[in-house]
Amino acid sequence: NADQAMYDAKDSGRNTMHYFTRQMQEQAVTRVNLVKQLREAISNKEFELRYQPIVDLQSMAVCRAEALIRWNHPQRGLVYPDQFIPEAEESGLVLEIGEWVFTEALQQVKAWRNTLSPDFQISVNTSPAHFDTSSAHSYTPERWIHLINSAGICGSAINIEITEHLLMETRAETKQQLLKLRDANIQVALDDFGTGYSSLAYLNQLDIDYLKIDRSFVQNLQPDSNDLVLCNAIIVMAHTLGLKVIAEGIETEQQHQLLRNAACDYGQGFFYAKALTADGFDQWHQDFQTRDKLCESEH
Ligand code: C2E
Ligand code: MG
Ligand code: MG
Ligand code: MG
Repeated sequence: NADQAMYDAKDSGRNTMHYFTRQMQEQAVTRVNLVKQLREAISNKEFELRYQPIVDLQSMAVCRAEALIRWNHPQRGLVYPDQFIPEAEESGLVLEIGEWVFTEALQQVKAWRNTLSPDFQISVNTSPAHFDTSSAHSYTPERWIHLINSAGICGSAINIEITEHLLMETRAETKQQLLKLRDANIQVALDDFGTGYSSLAYLNQLDIDYLKIDRSFVQNLQPDSNDLVLCNAIIVMAHTLGLKVIAEGIETEQQHQLLRNAACDYGQGFFYAKALTADGFDQWHQDFQTRDKLCESEH
């Protein structure tokens, strides 16, 4: 009857409500805990950097690496950035974390410029918040320039990776910040290209040096595939605009060959190496060079 039906609806409504609030509450608690733990992680220095090699596809030389953050959590072990960077961005803690990443990467690139190559360059990931000067924090691109100068190295030792989100929110000040980086000789790469909504016009207007083709285009790369057509088009367009191209997520020899034949400038992915500790990188670098020399002498 009607009374019963209303009672059921109310009841299930209440249950649903109960369910949602409880789930939301749990999520909120997890988030608050995570943010609290991130704060502790900053003061306890629980972060580590890994370095993934970036290979010059034409010469097979390796003079670049991307710094990728890991959180060595006291209970959870090694935590990947996808598990905490979004919260770090929402809470603003990513600003302080970025300062640590920057300082650490600077020390490492200084070392590798001595031991591996005087041109060695490390790419550092950044968040849009770093470019937001309206919130009056001090962790801006100007701060990076200051840190680079203090470390006594050239701007060319660092490559700043920005995302399309930053460009979507492009304001005059973002443009100003990018110009300052350019004046300091710091190169800029547009990360995960093709996944956002950035207009091609930005590529021309802003001072960007590299496009990083997102992994999703590289994953299913086959001869005669649509993705190969897309990759080719991106590479041709980038070269026309004077940009170099880095392909992300190369996992197979075939992907490597296809991109190399498409005149892609650089490649990065598990086919060459995963993100390595600094010591692991040194070892890998030595092995890779030897392997490459062996290949050459076979021809
Ligand atoms: P990203 O900048 O696009 O970095 C590339 C990601 O792809 C890395 O994941 C890398 O390990 C992974 N990858 C590289 N090659 C392959 C491959 O061949 N196959 C597959 N399946 N994956 C591959 P990771 O280290 O988990 O980083 C994820 C994201 O977290 C990064 O994406 C970047 O957006 C963010 N991130 C990492 N470190 C930092 C940081 O220090 N600061 C900020 N703000 N974000 C960071
Ligand atoms: Mg990146
Ligand atoms: Mg990327
Ligand atoms: Mg990516």
